[in-house]
Amino acid sequence: MLNCTKSFFGLRGCVSAARQILIPKISGRVFRFYARPEILAKPNILQTVGIYSDTNGKIPGWRSAVEMIWQRRNEEKMKNKLEQIREKAISQLNNCDTADKLNEIRVSILGKKGELTDLLKSMRDVPPQERPKVGQMVNETRAEIEKFLEERRTKIERAVREAKMAAEVIDVTLPAKKAELGHRHPDTIVLEEVERIFVGMGYEVVEGPEVEKDYYNFEALNIPADHPAKDEQDTFYITGDILLRTQTSGVQVHEMEKGKLPIRMIAPGRVFRSDEVDATHSPCFHQIEGLVIDRHITFADLKGTLAEFARELFGAETKVKFRPHHFPFTEPSAEMDVTCFKCGGKGCRFCKGSGWIEILGCGMVHPHVLEMSGIDPEEYTGFAFGVGLERITLLKYEIDDMRLLYENDIRFLKQF
Ligand SMILES: [Zn+2]
Repeated sequence: MLNCTKSFFGLRGCVSAARQILIPKISGRVFRFYARPEILAKPNILQTVGIYSDTNGKIPGWRSAVEMIWQRRNEEKMKNKLEQIREKAISQLNNCDTADKLNEIRVSILGKKGELTDLLKSMRDVPPQERPKVGQMVNETRAEIEKFLEERRTKIERAVREAKMAAEVIDVTLPAKKAELGHRHPDTIVLEEVERIFVGMGYEVVEGPEVEKDYYNFEALNIPADHPAKDEQDTFYITGDILLRTQTSGVQVHEMEKGKLPIRMIAPGRVFRSDEVDATHSPCFHQIEGLVIDRHITFADLKGTLAEFARELFGAETKVKFRPHHFPFTEPSAEMDVTCFKCGGKGCRFCKGSGWIEILGCGMVHPHVLEMSGIDPEEYTGFAFGVGLERITLLKYEIDDMRLLYENDIRFLKQF
């Protein structure tokens, strides 16, 4: 390595104030260069003066040497700039704690008008042979910043998630949310009460088909073919022989045909009649059928059972009375009245002044009905009754229009 000052004329005086720059391996050569800083800062002066040397002792063209020096200086400048950008980015990112801020920083550095992008644009001032090297430096810095940015993003996202988890901790001491429960229909409330009473007396609750054969709905119940109830005006026929049941009494026949005695059952269910809708009629309503068959069953059993039922349903003070009536499938038959639960029997508007309210039909099972179902009427006797569920519901809740029960208006149903 030569000391270039020796090779130069007229510059010795500058050496004491000189500054040394060592440039290793530019195009395989090493230059040592002395000059005053003010000269170093002025390329034109430097070019004019032409200060250079090389390791081989050969003296290259001074112009190319100075170009190399200036390339090196540009490289250093670029490196410093990149280092500045990198450090600024890292310091900004370290202080960044939200995804929005992170994004702002990303745009300010890597975005279209970002610092690094600007620097990349200045590449056009770099001589072509230097561009790959400078390009690589920029790319390395870019990759480093991007990596740091991603790490920071992951950290922020994790922190946000953890904060959210902490905020959403379930407080088990808070009262539980109430489940929205529906309200039981007044018909259901009354039916469950009736079932409770009879189950308490040892009855079984059974069901029968709503689509029924003519035989079970009429014939087996001793209802003759010319009975007015069989008229198409009153009954929904599906075919000549199949119909929608007009009463729950058919369930009696199904139970008797099973041949298991004794029988103690009630059979609630829907029945259908070809009626116009008004305050007291509906083409579909509910009955509760009752049947008891055993040895030695008498009218006293019927009376005692139904009186107990009335007291349970309407109150202990309730009295009952039986009026003779006619049903084809019972003999004798009766309708049962209860004392008005509004006036206690004195007479009021509710009971139309009579003090009594009719609630059901009943009677001793007709011997023909027992025989048709294969039960010996000499050995077994029984009683049956049928209650209109809506009738009891309307009475119990003092509702004056049956249609209210079917409209399902929530404002009405909520009251029970
Ligand atoms: Zn009354």
